[in-house]
Amino acid sequence: MECKREDNLAECTCTAVGCNNRGICCECVRHHRENGELPGCFFSAAGERSYDRSIENFVRLYNMHH
Ligand code: SF4
Repeated sequence: MECKREDNLAECTCTAVGCNNRGICCECVRHHRENGELPGCFFSAAGERSYDRSIENFVRLYNMHH
């Protein structure tokens, strides 16, 4: 199976344009999971821009908006 990076990039909502993992979702997920975090695409636009990708931040924001 070939890498879908170009397709993934077209949908990526992460604004960390300097990150080498953008579009390589497998690396992105691994990196954040190892750090107790979630990828930027799990967050709202405002949440994503905080660059706080912690699970705690995700749960806090989720509870504020649901
Ligand atoms: S969510 Fe994290 S690893 Fe994924 S592209 Fe953005 S900054 Fe890079």
